[in-house]
Amino acid sequence: MGIYLFLIFLFFTALISLTIYISAKNKKEDSYTNLEIEEWDCPVCGFHIQAGSKCIYCDTKKPT
Ligand SMILES: [Zn+2]
Repeated sequence: MGIYLFLIFLFFTALISLTIYISAKNKKEDSYTNLEIEEWDCPVCGFHIQAGSKCIYCDTKKPT
């Protein structure tokens, strides 16, 4: 009986680890997506860009 309890414990440990791994991965992808839609101000012409990584007026790339 002891071996079954150990296997069940092992199964749940693996399941929890997998859940944590997937949620951490999703969180990382979310922050990446947020970065892409982040609003920024063009340092050259001062235009406020709401989407994209390039100024629509002077073609300046988004500063990192
Ligand atoms: Zn600009």
